[in-house]
Amino acid sequence: MGFFSKLKNAVKKAVKAVANVVKGIVRNIVRIVVEVIHRLVNLGLGLIFWGREKKLRVHIVILHEPGQAPLVTEQNADDSFERAKAILKDKFNVRGYGFGKPHITTLKEEAPDRALNVECGAGGYFTREYGAAGSFFASHLGGWNVLPVTFMYPITVFVVAHVTHDGKEWRGCSWGILADYVVLTPTGINDDTTLAHEIGHACSLLHRDSKSNLMFHGWDRGTSVTGWQRFWFRGSRHVNFY
Ligand SMILES: [Zn+2]
Repeated sequence: MGFFSKLKNAVKKAVKAVANVVKGIVRNIVRIVVEVIHRLVNLGLGLIFWGREKKLRVHIVILHEPGQAPLVTEQNADDSFERAKAILKDKFNVRGYGFGKPHITTLKEEAPDRALNVECGAGGYFTREYGAAGSFFASHLGGWNVLPVTFMYPITVFVVAHVTHDGKEWRGCSWGILADYVVLTPTGINDDTTLAHEIGHACSLLHRDSKSNLMFHGWDRGTSVTGWQRFWFRGSRHVNFY
């Protein structure tokens, strides 16, 4: 390869990297603005329609390791969603709906390594979200292609191979207000509470120390929530009356 074509490739790569960073920052800012506006709107509507059933939409995308079978079956994902739906309805009076037709998809294309093996700790945030993996997740989100007409903000669940937090294996990860997606491992999506727990994080709930609480970190958690958690969850941009 000649000097100029090498240079051209390097410039192309650099432009793409910068574009990923800019897109990542724009995504973060849009999420924060939308969340603040929706919390205010939900607060107002919540005063009028206090306690009435609300809706939350979920889209599920199943990944695979290079050359391997999908990480879980669509039936596994649907069963998990049904378990999460039961918890959401019971604890928050929020009804879960599948978003997209179909609402569960098995991805044929290869995912970037950082999308398949997700580092959940703060240290992994920028290299993932502002790199190829962030763009990959963003391009497969349910809902954003039809925005802003619908004002729905579905949560997209990606089933990935591994989630680590500072080297420890976790079952799932969410970035709260900053993203419209969560990631779960096959073990996480097949257990009883991790999907509902990560949806809780996506709706801005933080960890609790009480083991009986849905927001306890360990997978052997319970499903109880406090009145404040119920109020705060219902105010999220992902949870609406329509
Ligand atoms: Zn958690």
